[in-house]
Amino acid sequence: MNYRPVIVWFRNDLRIEDNPALFYARETGAPVIAVYILDDRLAWAPGAASRWQLHHSLKSLAQDLESTGTKLILRRSDSQKAILALAEETGARGVFFNRRYYGKHIAIDDAVTAELEGAGVKVETFNGLLLREPWELKTGAGGPYRVFTPFWRSLRAMGPARQSPLPRLRRIKGPKRFPKSDRLEDWAFLPEKPDWAKEFADVWRPGENSARKRLNAFLQESIANYADERDRLDKEHVSRLSPCLALGVIGPLQIWSAVRKAVSEAQAEKFLSEVAWREFCYNLLYYNPDLPEAPLRKEFADYPWRNDRKELTAWRKGLTGYPVVDAGMRQLWRTGWMHNRARMIAASFLVKDLQIPWQQGKAWFWDTLVDADLANNAANWQWVAGCGADAAPYFRIFNPIAQGEKFDPEGDYVRQFVPELADLPAKFIHAPWTAPKAALENAGVTLGKSYPFPIINHKEARQRALAGYAEIKRV
Ligand SMILES: Cc1cc2nc3c(=O)[nH]c(=O)nc-3n(C[C@H](O)[C@H](O)[C@H](O)COP(=O)(O)OP(=O)(O)OC[C@H]3O[C@@H](n4cnc5c(N)ncnc54)[C@H](O)[C@@H]3O)c2cc1C
Repeated sequence: MNYRPVIVWFRNDLRIEDNPALFYARETGAPVIAVYILDDRLAWAPGAASRWQLHHSLKSLAQDLESTGTKLILRRSDSQKAILALAEETGARGVFFNRRYYGKHIAIDDAVTAELEGAGVKVETFNGLLLREPWELKTGAGGPYRVFTPFWRSLRAMGPARQSPLPRLRRIKGPKRFPKSDRLEDWAFLPEKPDWAKEFADVWRPGENSARKRLNAFLQESIANYADERDRLDKEHVSRLSPCLALGVIGPLQIWSAVRKAVSEAQAEKFLSEVAWREFCYNLLYYNPDLPEAPLRKEFADYPWRNDRKELTAWRKGLTGYPVVDAGMRQLWRTGWMHNRARMIAASFLVKDLQIPWQQGKAWFWDTLVDADLANNAANWQWVAGCGADAAPYFRIFNPIAQGEKFDPEGDYVRQFVPELADLPAKFIHAPWTAPKAALENAGVTLGKSYPFPIINHKEARQRALAGYAEIKRV
C-alpha cells in the first residue's frame, strides 16, 4: 500500500536537515505530503515580527522541499480540523510530527493523535526541538530541575539523545497529485502600510542555508571570544542564531555537533551552556504550563505592580531618557532583535524601575521579536522579574547608567540606535543630564526636546521597588 501518502506536519521545525519527522516519513517509502497550518486561534500564535520571519522561512522551506521532489502545502484553519481533513482528503496512512512542549499545544497534538488513530491513521512523533526531552532529565529525587547549574551538569554528562544530526534530504517522493494549498502571499505576513520591517532584511537572511552559514561564521569568527565578550553591547560576539532556533530553521543538535567539532570542549563550554538555557526554559514550560502568564513564585501575584500607560509607551518607544534602555528598545523595533544584555537591562527597568508587570513586557517582546519563543521569552521575563525558577534575586536591580558604562564603554551601541546622542562624549553618553551645558550644546542635544529627561529617578525607583518586594515578603 505504498502509494498511500504520509503527512509531515511542520510546526517550529522548518528545515529539511536533521528533521526526524521528515526523515522517518521519507524512510517509509511512501509519498510525502508536507504541510504547515496557520492556526490564528492557537494559544500564542506568532506575533507580528515572528510572522515576518515565518514568511521568509516558509518560502525558503517550500523551495528546499520542491528541490527534493515534494511540495509544502499551506492551510489556514483550526489546526486540529485541518490536519484531520488533510489526512482524510489524501487517504494518508500516517501523520508524522516533531513534539511540542507547551500544555495547550500538547493538548491539540494529543487530540489529533486520538482522532487519527481512531480512524486507522498511524501517528508517529519525534524529538526535533530539544537535545533531550524534559522527562529525560530528572533530579536525584526524580523531579524536574528548578536550578540551572545542576540541570546543565546533567545535560552535559548525558549529551544529546542522538549522536549526530540526520542528513539533509536530497530526494523526497511527492504524491502523484498534490492537495490544494493557500498562497503564502495571501497570508499577508509582511507589513505594508507602514512597513515597520523595512530594515529587517538588512539584518536577517532567513532560511536553512543562511542559518548554516551564520553558524559557520560564528564558529570561525566569534566563538573564541564568546565567553569574555558576549555581554558587550558594542561588539556582538554572539551567534544571532535565535531567530533560526525559534522557528526550527536550525536545530540544537546541529549546533551542538558543529560546535563540538569546531572547537575544544573548554572553548565550547560557555556557548553550549547558553544553548542549554534554552533547554532549561523548555523544561520549565513543560512542567509549568502557565509559565507565560503566572509567576512561578506565587507571592509575586501580590506585588504592588503599577500600570502606567504613559511610562509603558515611553519604554516601548525607547524614550525613557536612559540611553542604554532606549538603545535596546530601538534596536528591537528597528531590527526585531535585541542583544541579551540589553534585554536584561530593558526588562529590569520595566519591572523594577517602572514596576510595570512583566507580562506587559513579555507581550511586547512577543510581538516585536523575530526570535520570539514562548519558553525563552516567558522564562527570561520571570527570571528578570525575580519570580521565576533560579531567577535573579529581586534585590539585584540593574542601574541603567552603570550597566551602560560597563557594557558599552565608548557609547557606540547608544550612538548607533539613539542617533540624537551620537555626538555626546562617552563620559556623558549614559547619563546625558549630567553633561555640562556646553557639552550638550556642542552635541546638539536639548534635553526635554531632542532627547527626554529620565522619566523616573533611578535611585528613588529602586527604593520603591525594594519597598514593594518587602511588602510581599511580609505577607
Ligand atoms: C527579557 C528576556 C526575554 C527574552 N526572550 C527571548 C525570546 O523570546 N526568544 C529567545 O530565543 N530568547 C529570548 N531571550 C534570551 C536571549 O536574550 C536570546 O536567546 C539571545 O539574546 C539570542 O541571541 P543569540 O542567538 O545571539 O544568542 P547566543 O548568545 O549566541 O546564544 C545561542 C543560543 O542560546 C540560547 N540562549 C542564549 N541565552 C539564552 C537565555 N538567556 N535563555 C534561553 N536561551 C538562551 C538561544 O537559543 C540562543 O540563540 C530573552 C532574554 C531576556 C532577558
